[in-house]
Amino acid sequence: VSDPQVYIALIHYPVYNKRMEVITTSVTNLDLHDISRAAYTYQVKGFYVVHPLASQRELIHQILDYWQNGYGGQYNPDRREAFQILRVASSISEVLTGIREETGSVPRIATTDARIYPNSISYRSLREEISAAKSPYLLMFGTGWGLEKQTMLGADYILEPIAADRPYNHLSVRSATAITLDRLLGDI
Ligand code: SAM
Repeated sequence: VSDPQVYIALIHYPVYNKRMEVITTSVTNLDLHDISRAAYTYQVKGFYVVHPLASQRELIHQILDYWQNGYGGQYNPDRREAFQILRVASSISEVLTGIREETGSVPRIATTDARIYPNSISYRSLREEISAAKSPYLLMFGTGWGLEKQTMLGADYILEPIAADRPYNHLSVRSATAITLDRLLGDI
């Protein structure tokens, strides 16, 4: 049985706002819970939440502390368990360093977006590659209006959009993460 080394990251900077300016977004409590649970279900090795502001990283630690050490964890052990894989980082480069230290290899990066980019990779191809590889992969997800273009283009792969041709295509990052993990790691 293969044991894919897949990590995911939720990026709060650099992302776009509605006017396509590069901004930093705020942490969303729901994202932390729902993405941790999806990631833990699909045996992701680590879920990084990337935020450049110390005050927002501290907020994440407080939420984690409540669910891991406080009353929340006693009341709902399922959440405590899923939060074990959440890690907090200040930048994408810190994530890459962390994965390299843990696995001995720099991960191959795949980014996601609702927009169509040229040379994107299909879920099927990336799924096959991941299942055959021994080296780590990092899947990056955006907040706000999506990952900044240079971050998208700097990745090894850009995944094709989910539901690209539908008239309405505004998935939450929570839904997009769950769908992506199921397509790449789920039992099909
Ligand atoms: N405020 C929003 C929310 O409620 O989640 C944040 C939207 S954020 C731009 C959505 C992120 O989910 C994108 O950056 C991308 O990582 C992923 N995503 C959304 N739609 C997608 C699609 N059709 N295909 C692939 N990834 C998608």
